Amino acid sequence: KTGWILVGASTVAREWMVDAIRQQGDAEVLAVVSRDAARGAAFAEQFGIAASYTDLDAALAHPGADAVYISTTNELHMAQTLQAARAGKHVLCEKPLALSLEDARRMVDGCAEAGVVLGINHHLRNAASHGKVRELIRAGEIGQPLYGRVLHANNLPQHLRGWRLDAPESGGVTLDMFVHDVDTLRFLLDAEPRHVTACATSGGMTVAGLEEGLMAVIEFDNGALVQVHDAFNAPHSLSGVEIIGTKGTIFATGVMTQRPVGTISLTRDGGSIDIPVEHENLYVRSVRAFQRAMRGEGQPAATGDDGMRALATALAAQQASRSHQRVTLAG
Ligand code: NDP
Repeated sequence: KTGWILVGASTVAREWMVDAIRQQGDAEVLAVVSRDAARGAAFAEQFGIAASYTDLDAALAHPGADAVYISTTNELHMAQTLQAARAGKHVLCEKPLALSLEDARRMVDGCAEAGVVLGINHHLRNAASHGKVRELIRAGEIGQPLYGRVLHANNLPQHLRGWRLDAPESGGVTLDMFVHDVDTLRFLLDAEPRHVTACATSGGMTVAGLEEGLMAVIEFDNGALVQVHDAFNAPHSLSGVEIIGTKGTIFATGVMTQRPVGTISLTRDGGSIDIPVEHENLYVRSVRAFQRAMRGEGQPAATGDDGMRALATALAAQQASRSHQRVTLAG
């Protein structure tokens, strides 16, 4: 069995990842690490996890530990990843990978040097819906993609209205949500972002200066232009992705979510058809791909390089919205 250590007594671990690991059948959660002994112990008790630690090195020495899942707040990802890699543990890390590209590069290099797998938990590329959209595009069903739209404005749940709204290093909605959109678009389009233009709002739900709403245009290296909208403060907005090509349009409704839901329509000459999707838990798929990569079978769903590219584009969008300048990404 793969032995997992959870680093962070977090909401995402609580809501999705403990279950995703346990659903593998050949994996177990051995311990949880929290900076707060009482929080860690309560988490362990709630989920029937045998051990909790406040010291990461002690947890990494737990017998049978093979992999860590890091879901602490963003500023901690880099140091904890490097510490785990040095201890020879494979690392599945939450997004955003780090706060800067330099730190992200250190994580990717550190894991490569230690010979451990680094995966990033960009969940959306694990959705059957997004997989289907990608398949349709690759099969030429809409011709050459020309334009896209990502609708990812929602209502930040009450229990998540903490550090995302007041810690500058959280990066606001840009590092929280836009970073997922970039990863998803790279996955769907098989293309790389080249330029970003963006405007943002702040100060309603977030502290002034920290983005709560973002509208961006990404120019991809295949010529596609994509509009992206993210928000923490849009309670009645619908989510979706539209990709418009030379021969047709795909509209995926309700797919920018953690849940395995949503519908897809394909419109071409002659009308629209619904495309069937067999949904499966996104996080179960993420852990499955990661464990396969640990066994030398392929790559994690999102690699360290994917995490770095999503972060680079998110930092470019942050710069673009703050400077009111179009930002070009390094090649
Ligand atoms: P949480 O705020 O729930 O957890 C982050 C850290 O905050 C925990 O590690 C914990 O620290 C501390 N914490 C948890 N509860 C409390 C509390 N009641 N009081 C004080 N501190 C607390 O964050 P999320 O789970 O929302 O996000 C964690 C990471 O996961 C982020 O990097 C985020 O971007 C990412 N994320 C990814 C998602 C995805 O679908 N891929 C979805 C949601 C988040 P300690 O470990 O010390 O106990």
